[in-house]
Amino acid sequence: MTRDFFLCYFETTRRCNLSCPYCASRQDTSLKKNELTTDEAKYLVLDEVKRICPQGAVAFSGGEFLLRQDAMELLEYNRGLGLYSFINTNGKCLNRNLLKEIKKLTRGKITFGFSLNSIKRALHRT
Ligand code: SF4
Repeated sequence: MTRDFFLCYFETTRRCNLSCPYCASRQDTSLKKNELTTDEAKYLVLDEVKRICPQGAVAFSGGEFLLRQDAMELLEYNRGLGLYSFINTNGKCLNRNLLKEIKKLTRGKITFGFSLNSIKRALHRT
């Protein structure tokens, strides 16, 4: 049985406001300067997902996606294409106003993902 492509995991940036020792994203510093521009993200990634999978979803990840200046613009563009959005975030940038803004511009087609490495604080932080 074949399954339709559904989810694009889009690593939008290598930048992050944390420096977890187990982070896979921050290992390759050569990639930090080569983020896609806003237009490249829209037209090379999001439009392509829409073309391949019109009912699909994009998981905006990083690094920390919410550090991108164009994060809201990309979420709004994704919603305009009719695609669902996930945000994989460490949560450091989130506050009530930003959550309301994201909910509004995605019209509720949004899920947040947070990583939890251990329920023990000391282990989670190592
Ligand atoms: S929060 Fe995520 S992206 Fe940022 S340093 Fe930690 S593991 Fe890496």
